Amino acid sequence: MGRSSKDKRDIYYRLAKEEGWRARSAFKLLQLDQEFNLFTGVSRAVDLCAAPGSWSQVLSRKLRGDEGAKEVKIVAVDLQAMAPLPGVTQIQGDITKVSTAQEIIRHFEGQAADLVVCDGAPDVTGLHDVDEYIQAQLLLAALNITTHVLKPGGTFVAKIFRGKDVTLLYSQLKIFFSRVTCAKPRSSRNSSIESFVVCQRYSPPACYIPNMSNPLLDHCYDVDFNQLDGSNRFIVPFLACGDLSAFDSDRTYPLQLDADTEYHYTPPPQPPICPSYQQACHLRKNNLLSKEGAAGSTCSQGQNKGLY
Ligand code: SAM
Repeated sequence: MGRSSKDKRDIYYRLAKEEGWRARSAFKLLQLDQEFNLFTGVSRAVDLCAAPGSWSQVLSRKLRGDEGAKEVKIVAVDLQAMAPLPGVTQIQGDITKVSTAQEIIRHFEGQAADLVVCDGAPDVTGLHDVDEYIQAQLLLAALNITTHVLKPGGTFVAKIFRGKDVTLLYSQLKIFFSRVTCAKPRSSRNSSIESFVVCQRYSPPACYIPNMSNPLLDHCYDVDFNQLDGSNRFIVPFLACGDLSAFDSDRTYPLQLDADTEYHYTPPPQPPICPSYQQACHLRKNNLLSKEGAAGSTCSQGQNKGLY
């Protein structure tokens, strides 16, 4: 298989390289913005689970503009290191830690964020129930840290797996936001259960005190989460978003997209810094895969320890 075969199979992968995005997921945020105007009036934004950084790139380009607006502050958090981006402060940390929330607030000089986005994903195991459960926990962790840093009225966008228990997550989100929509951008494959919740108008219950060490549901609410029938069952609208004439992420396109433009292979703009698969590559290359206690990671710190 040649290096261009992925360009053929995955049009958004190819376009991402051509437009200089670090990952194809950039298009998901761009298409969500087309539908929800996420960036209007935003000057403080947080990108949770940000590496390798394509969502941060979108935030940087859209919020700072060509001039690099000085008043805009963007913080990107990930367990993994990420190559620097203009106007983006990086925190290499875990979104489940209160110290990470404190660091974000410090960067905003005590002010709250207008927008929090999270494209966090676990390393999939292939066991669907387990993957869905871990993704749900990561989403709740993202919601938890968001309650520490988001301003009332602010917006939270996060990846969600639309599995069989998704209604419970919707109910939990609905407690904190008066409008919750589930959206599927064109660039997210139909074959994937991935979607995005767009939660608008942050308005936590009056009794809510953000607390990272307590599960969100231990607080005093007037809703019983174990009872999802009747009035407690929130029906969240589902929206396909992005221009419907946009490329179809499930289709294979020819390398030459039209008669006038010749295809040229474009290399990725920014290889990941010390990615989590680096250790596996190292072990395989040195024929160490089956040996117990084989050499440790060649990367520095804190990787693969959090909720994936
Ligand atoms: N939005 C990114 C982009 O556009 O480049 C891609 C994000 S990638 C799909 C998911 C990221 O979630 C990984 O980089 C992983 O390190 C991060 N992650 C998973 N659990 C985390 C945690 N507990 N704290 C911080 N980051 C986490």
